[in-house]
Amino acid sequence: MIPESLQHFFPANKLSGSDDLLVIPVVGRDVLMAQGSGVLVVDKTATDIMKFYCQRRLVLGQWQGVDCEVWDLSPECRSMPGYELVDLRSLLRSVSDQEFSLASRAVQMLEWQKTHRFCGSCGEPTSCSADDHALRCLPCNISLYPRISPCIIVVVVDGERCLLGRQASWPEGRFSALAGFLEAGESAEQALHREVFEEVGVHVDNIRYMGSQVWPFPGQLMLGFLADAKTTDIQVDGLEIAEAGWFHFSQLPERLPSIQSMSGRLIAHFVNQV
Ligand SMILES: [Zn+2]
Repeated sequence: MIPESLQHFFPANKLSGSDDLLVIPVVGRDVLMAQGSGVLVVDKTATDIMKFYCQRRLVLGQWQGVDCEVWDLSPECRSMPGYELVDLRSLLRSVSDQEFSLASRAVQMLEWQKTHRFCGSCGEPTSCSADDHALRCLPCNISLYPRISPCIIVVVVDGERCLLGRQASWPEGRFSALAGFLEAGESAEQALHREVFEEVGVHVDNIRYMGSQVWPFPGQLMLGFLADAKTTDIQVDGLEIAEAGWFHFSQLPERLPSIQSMSGRLIAHFVNQV
């Protein structure tokens, strides 16, 4: 019996033989959806036309017990009446967490296959593994897996205040939690200490893991944390972070990330705590 938390989706690289087949039609990094429906997957009837545009199909697993594939459609499918292309960022706001994960998986799996057609070591073509979701290079005897890049994202807390920063590329007034990629050989905790120190010069302790979120822009996994400040003097690096400050929970900046993002959730969690 599959655990309840996995019953909405269970990843697999083979069809289970369920009666129906659900399809996520994808064009580039966008999902083709029935106009205004908000429904991510389409069933067999709708795919009768889509199959003419299908360039490649890939099993994703079982969605609510039903076999689910992603179909890589050619751009000409835009002419299908009653359908529209929806980008992943819009989906983040309009579908459930589970559906967003599924759409991310669909887009990332296709992209991975497209960008790993040849072995980076010997240059020979890769082939799909029969055992798992891997691409194999037989001469080198290596398996290539979808690239997922872990990132830490943290709200540093000092009593009733939290530390937020504005990236140099963002408009004035827009603030968020601090974030950064893990370096090779680094734990999430080490990355957190390093990123906070590099970006704003602050020391932290008492790191609490709050949860994770897929962030397919293009392939991050956000690991969300709260941490306590050990020092409070801010020195922005001026490169990644243009501006940072301590904000009282009752006087947060007006332009904050949406609650659908890990950053928004961490800030909401901080506010609820204090
Ligand atoms: Zn090779």
